[in-house]
Amino acid sequence: MMKLLRVDKEPTYQCALQEMSTADFFEQLSPDGDVVVQVDYSTVNYKDGLAITGTSPVVRKPSLVPGIDLAGKVVSSASTKFKAGDEVLLNGWGVGETHSGGLAQMARVHSDWLQLRPTAISAKQSMAIGTAGYTAMLCVQALQRGGVEPGSGEILVTGATGGVGSIATLLLSDMGYSVVAVTGKASEHGYLKNLGAQEVMDRCLLNEPGKALQKERWAGVVDAVGSHTLANTCASLRYGGIVAACGLAQGLDFPASVAPFILRGITLCGIDSVKAPMAKRESAWLALAQHLNLDKLDSLTTEVGLAGALQVGVDLMAGNITGRVVVDVNA
Ligand code: NDP
Repeated sequence: MMKLLRVDKEPTYQCALQEMSTADFFEQLSPDGDVVVQVDYSTVNYKDGLAITGTSPVVRKPSLVPGIDLAGKVVSSASTKFKAGDEVLLNGWGVGETHSGGLAQMARVHSDWLQLRPTAISAKQSMAIGTAGYTAMLCVQALQRGGVEPGSGEILVTGATGGVGSIATLLLSDMGYSVVAVTGKASEHGYLKNLGAQEVMDRCLLNEPGKALQKERWAGVVDAVGSHTLANTCASLRYGGIVAACGLAQGLDFPASVAPFILRGITLCGIDSVKAPMAKRESAWLALAQHLNLDKLDSLTTEVGLAGALQVGVDLMAGNITGRVVVDVNA
């Protein structure tokens, strides 16, 4: 028998803790894949909050296990790429959306989606990083590729107390960048300063419609928020600056002007973690192993069991979570 969270879309959308036999799980919820993984940890990302609560149609099967991330050990493999005992992790590729995901004690997945976990990072820490942290690193690497260096000027991080924002703030600060963190949580300024932010800004200064061109300030931006916030950050990028846009916590819209693009030569760089090619993932995880302060990562991480993940999904959607939550699927 195994424990799992299960989303059923009919007759009414629900996500609940269940126990079922592994054989039934493979037959009913995870019929394909060439590697079986015993899951140690998963996590709750923004997308998992959407799946757990049914807030947005991210689950595209009638029934499945949510969880876009997992870390664990290979139990059996029909692929030559992995063998029993390998310590692996998985981010995205549609697990938790079109294929059963990480919020279960077992997973059957495709070998092309798996990667070996860097030895410097524990299974639990890899899920404290999760898609949120790996996306934060993709954003940092996009800024680096565009020539943004620690001496280039201030970097703005939006949605800063969230998963992507917290890890982006921590990473950039430790890499020597001067970070201005944007948050709507007045109570969390100390948390962001502790992660290394030089300054904390209230999100109300950025989330309303603004002028097409504003005072130039940012050398780079990591934006997890979208909508007017993204438009305003584009309008206030310095000449040649870059925004790495990965999220939509404020909205999917982008009510912006072309003015900063054609007058200041700014770059808007879209970041996708789900289908990023393996080479990009491996480079991001290598850089995480090199640059992420794991003690500070531990300090921004809380842990729950499978049942607790249900409430975390609700709290995340209400904007009431700071930092990262890992799920011990065996607790
Ligand atoms: P979290 O829920 O952990 O964090 C989102 C943060 O955004 C919140 O903590 C809050 O930070 C801020 N926020 C929430 N609502 C609003 C609002 N209405 N206006 C402005 N800010 C708001 O989510 P994640 O960090 O995991 O993900 C952030 C975004 O990035 C999501 O939209 C997610 O879908 C996306 N994402 C995209 C990926 C990709 O591949 N492109 C991968 C991973 C995530 P605060 O209170 O500090 O302001």
